[in-house]
Amino acid sequence: MPPPDPLPGTAYGLSVVSNRLPPGAPGATTAEHSSRAEAGGQLPDSSCISPSVLRVAIPTPLRRLFDYRPSQAPPPDGWQPGIRVRVPFGRRLVVGVVESCRHDSDLPLAKLKPVEEWLDASPLPADWLWLCRFTARYYQHSLGDTLHQAMPVLLRQGRPVAGRMREQWRVTDSGRGPGDERLKRAPRQAELLAMLRQHPHGLPTQAVVAQSFTREQLLALVEKGLLERQETPLTASPQPASGHLLAEPSLPLKREQAAALAAIHERLDHFHPCLLHGVTGSGKTEVYLQLIEAVVSRGRQALLLVPEIGLTPQTLARFRQRFQVPVVALHSGLTDNERLDAWEAAASGRAPIIIGTRSAIFTPLSRPGVIIVDEEHDGSFKQQEGLRYHARDLAVARAHHHGIPLVLGTATPSLESLHHARSGAYRHLRLTQRASRHAPARLELVDLRGRPRQGGLIPPVLEAIRGTLDAGHQVLVFINRRGFAPTLACHACGWLADCDHCDARMTLHRQPPVLACHHCDKRRPIPDACPACGSGDLRPLGSGTERTEETLAALFPQVPVHRIDRDSTRRRDAFEAILTEVKRGEPCLLVGTQMLAKGHHLPHVTLVVVVNADAGLYASDFRALEHSAQLLVQVAGRAGRSSHPGRVLVQTLHDDDPHLRLLAETGYDALAEQLLAERRAAGLPPFRFLALLRLESPREDAANALASNASAALREWLQARGLGVDCLGPVPAPMERRQNRYHLQLMLASDKRSQLHEACAQLTAWLEATPEARKARWSLDVDPQTLS
Ligand code: ADP
Ligand code: ZN
Ligand code: ZN
Repeated sequence: MPPPDPLPGTAYGLSVVSNRLPPGAPGATTAEHSSRAEAGGQLPDSSCISPSVLRVAIPTPLRRLFDYRPSQAPPPDGWQPGIRVRVPFGRRLVVGVVESCRHDSDLPLAKLKPVEEWLDASPLPADWLWLCRFTARYYQHSLGDTLHQAMPVLLRQGRPVAGRMREQWRVTDSGRGPGDERLKRAPRQAELLAMLRQHPHGLPTQAVVAQSFTREQLLALVEKGLLERQETPLTASPQPASGHLLAEPSLPLKREQAAALAAIHERLDHFHPCLLHGVTGSGKTEVYLQLIEAVVSRGRQALLLVPEIGLTPQTLARFRQRFQVPVVALHSGLTDNERLDAWEAAASGRAPIIIGTRSAIFTPLSRPGVIIVDEEHDGSFKQQEGLRYHARDLAVARAHHHGIPLVLGTATPSLESLHHARSGAYRHLRLTQRASRHAPARLELVDLRGRPRQGGLIPPVLEAIRGTLDAGHQVLVFINRRGFAPTLACHACGWLADCDHCDARMTLHRQPPVLACHHCDKRRPIPDACPACGSGDLRPLGSGTERTEETLAALFPQVPVHRIDRDSTRRRDAFEAILTEVKRGEPCLLVGTQMLAKGHHLPHVTLVVVVNADAGLYASDFRALEHSAQLLVQVAGRAGRSSHPGRVLVQTLHDDDPHLRLLAETGYDALAEQLLAERRAAGLPPFRFLALLRLESPREDAANALASNASAALREWLQARGLGVDCLGPVPAPMERRQNRYHLQLMLASDKRSQLHEACAQLTAWLEATPEARKARWSLDVDPQTLS
């Protein structure tokens, strides 16, 4: 079987697109020593002892490489692509990566600046370099910036990868002796010594500090001769536990789980993309666990990507409980040192299991065995600024490169992945049964029209809440708006609290009281009287989480109401504390945004209420409906996950909407089929490929002029080349004015990915070479997930 297209479309049909600037273009000589070069192109020479030119990728947005002269002393094994170097760039010294070693440059060799120093004796990991090159090419991003983004902070700063030492502290013979007089007046030091005595092999600094001791206390004990400080190479430990892989037995699989695992297991040595399409609670995680067990027992590594919201201590605990070997977690709470340790452990193969969010796709692996993407449809896998990559799509490309299985797990597949599964490019594995007794609850639509609302909820829904609480169960109320109310309105004149900087309303918050714009973060005090007419009759319009929480707390004073949104969980452990409390099972009300909707196992929730399902129904964004259906199913999946069946009430003003009815009556799969048919008819992804150029400027006329010139130049070029790429726009962005800047968009669409990429390369080259474009901000989004 030929390899299927790994990315939505044909990434592998993608030729190496050169970002070569036209000769003599104004952007071609920004730096004296610069060279026009193929960004992310092939490597002319893989290695050479004494090249006369090093072509270096520099952390700059410019899509090009820069030539330097090698310094006097080459690294021990000679110059090679993938070695970091410190080089002068403009007036600064920056850390770049050698991309190729050569004997030619577009500039006279005498004009090239020398490399200051080399930073690596051997190149950075080859699989990682491959992925960065692929990413830069695919997303049409500067290679230097891609490498920079993809490496741990300490490597960006020029620190060495390996050879770093771990500091350890060990009790000396005299420290083991009878109690020391000198510690009588230093009780913490005495405690520290007592603690370390229990670890005859010593403890690393990190472990000591984690128990609230300080470095000063450690050094004081060294001074007294009771402790000794040792340094061991970081790479020497910790060794993966040999022999036993599992710390607890795995569950006997249900029939469908076993069939899915067997299917993936069939081809562990090949690229083998699988869509694990299983209803919420069907035991996908158990399949991952047993697949990882199989892969690790063969001496290979497993990389698991989870959504931002999914990387909770509970998820990690589940993996750490199962395995005796180390499970490395890459999350935002790591220090720079820990991050580099994890990177090195993965690159050296010491870490058999790596779990992380989006950016963990850039973890080097020396013995890759499987890549798993949990909740593959989740929006957090797409980076929405700078390097706009999609970690799921890169996972496909990476698994293909390594020749290993790829598992995309979800209850609600993205239309892209579903399309590939239906066309046979991905193996379609289904789990239709929940591991627990009850099938996922159906959505019951509740008509909001003409009904009085309290905190956004109508009387029959409030009755259902009361009944559930009376039965001793928990209720989850989902509302995708934080704050007290979406805005503040004057009932005398109709004034609304608009943001001065955006085409948007300001959200009313009560805790603390303030008007805040969720688009630009501007804040202002809540006025006492209407700024337009002076009336005092200002009222909140609509409901957010705070208002629903307040209403429910007043209506159901006998049970606790927990609000979960970004505001209420700013403290890192606040969310965990609530979840722990909720898992105890006492009746309670949970009010929250999508933070609450995804992934959490809340066994005592039997009623889920969706305050308003209408946001995605009539949005202009073509993916809005897909995303909103996925979210609804996720939310609904929180209901009835253990011994009691669940119920899901969905409030809507459009209970006759055909899409919503299809979702409620037949389910996500039927809706997805329908949406695929509509996308095909409309010529939209996954049947066509898109790229979106976003342009912004503080001056409306400047933004307009630049966008029109760019599209005119591109259209002319497309016509001359005879490429099948449509250029649509420019049009104003859905929110035209944001942060006092004007936003415009230009859309490129094509049936052929390679042609789309050619057009994108042309467009970015034109923008880089055009002086007016430097006064505006622009960015290119290949496979945009939203059009906002
Ligand atoms: P998903 O990831 O598909 O949402 P989970 O893996 O979280 O589902 O499983 C849901 C629940 O079912 C968990 O409590 C899990 O321990 C349990 N479970 C999964 N597989 C089995 C099995 N084979 N036998 C018994 N319980 C299982
Ligand atoms: Zn007014
Ligand atoms: Zn604003």
